[in-house]
Amino acid sequence: MNTATQAAAGIPTVKLLIDGAFVDSRTSEWRDVVNPATQDVLARVPFATTAEVDAAVAAAKEAFKTWRKTPISTRARIFLKYQQLIREHMQELAAILTAEQGKTLPDAEGDVFRGLEVVEHAAGIGNLQLGELANNVANGVDTYTLLQPLGVCAGITPFNFPAMIPLWMFPMAIATGNTFVLKPSEQDPMVTMRLVELALEAGIPKGVLNVVHGGPDVVNAICDHPDIKAVSFVGSTKVGTHVYQRAALAGKRAQCMMGAKNHAVVLPDANKEQSLNAMVGAAFGAAGQRCMAASTLVLVGEARSWIPDLVEKARALKVNAGTEAGTDVGPVISCTARSRIEGMIASGVDEGARLVLDGRNPAIPGFEKGNFVGPTIFAGVKPGMRIYDEEIFGPVLVILEVDTLDDAIALVNANPNGNGTAVFTQSGWAARRFQEEIDVGQVGINLPIPVPVPYFSFTGSRASKLGDLGPYGKQVVAFYTQTKTVIARWFDEETAAHGVNTTISL
Ligand code: NAD
Repeated sequence: MNTATQAAAGIPTVKLLIDGAFVDSRTSEWRDVVNPATQDVLARVPFATTAEVDAAVAAAKEAFKTWRKTPISTRARIFLKYQQLIREHMQELAAILTAEQGKTLPDAEGDVFRGLEVVEHAAGIGNLQLGELANNVANGVDTYTLLQPLGVCAGITPFNFPAMIPLWMFPMAIATGNTFVLKPSEQDPMVTMRLVELALEAGIPKGVLNVVHGGPDVVNAICDHPDIKAVSFVGSTKVGTHVYQRAALAGKRAQCMMGAKNHAVVLPDANKEQSLNAMVGAAFGAAGQRCMAASTLVLVGEARSWIPDLVEKARALKVNAGTEAGTDVGPVISCTARSRIEGMIASGVDEGARLVLDGRNPAIPGFEKGNFVGPTIFAGVKPGMRIYDEEIFGPVLVILEVDTLDDAIALVNANPNGNGTAVFTQSGWAARRFQEEIDVGQVGINLPIPVPVPYFSFTGSRASKLGDLGPYGKQVVAFYTQTKTVIARWFDEETAAHGVNTTISL
């Protein structure tokens, strides 16, 4: 369907943003943006052409010439205005997000809010992008560093946080003086585009922020483009590994935050009610489609007797469309995702795990076409089963049982993923031992989804992250800047007349 036919059918098209203008793509390849609770087609998103990617990068390259010299306070004030606009449009943004992504309205507001915190941080860039100075490193010599922007940077984002994760990227890149090309998830680009409109309204000049849509071809074009200096990626391990390798081959900086299998370890001395409530929220919230979902529960010793209580709490969750009041678990993103999750559940049964709560095919009156999977729990799970070895990314919790804290630590560290983990205990000694020994990026102590606020950076270990610097926070200032070290001596008439010196000293 071309754009004219789409317009006639009343389906809006998602625009590209190139050099300050929201434009229709000239591509012949389009994909539907579908409401996962109803299957209504909300919009059509283009897969941009190579020429359009080139035009976006060229606009960003041109804009960099002036943006890099824009005063710090001018850049910062744009983000002060931007955070205000996001607050004012919070409910509108959450409604768009829920319609295209499926999560509940309160959770959608949380998605926007966690991104808003990064925008607030970007408004304080004057305090973050500071160099260092050492006075008198030799006679009359000072050394200082400048943290200068790189140029055109790019971001590639996943479907599960279509507000927060784009906001992890472009505000900090732009606040530090770079220009940006964003490639949102093609599954839910609409809330991202509304956030981009608000960014322009806040004063981001033309060409400084550009957006292209698409799939693998557009991502590859970004990785290969000689005028892009750095790529930030968030998504699956398979795609992130490809992006990291391809971008590095083209000489770029890359940071790739990737897949997860987050283990929560519950010790028998933990507060039972608090731990089980936290587990149920963290396993099934957002239908398990959070990179920090607690998808794997490790019960230590006597805590294994808590399974029936956990199952009852999970069974009580309300599965419904994200727009409906009181919903705990919305639909998963697509029919394909639903089939994949149901396939994983079937594999767990085939491989001998105990299905203690089966959430398949829930009846949701009024939303019969939705991609719903209810909370599902397997006990008796072992490494080697697909439901343990692979990221399910749906509302499925797998439970393993071990005898000691050391067994739990060994299990977590033997899993290839190192995104997030948690320990529930009332023992400070056990918590500290866990914190010291565990090889995982984010560690929660009596907290199930330990996502750092933007004074810190999100991180990851092993298969969950490639690249040494994480998104947002202090680390991302280093990622988006090049350190230039200046060693300076100023002469007056007298000190200039010392003659030639061929040794290495200053
Ligand atoms: P995905 O890897 O399928 O897609 C991410 C991005 O890559 C999208 O923009 C997509 O268009 C693009 N893409 C998809 N296939 C590609 C290919 N073959 N070649 C090049 N580009 C391609 O991820 P998703 O399904 O959108 O998101 C879910 C995944 O993201 C989960 O694995 C989740 O754990 C992970 N995630 C990680 C974090 C983190 O911070 N570690 C945060 C959120 C999500």
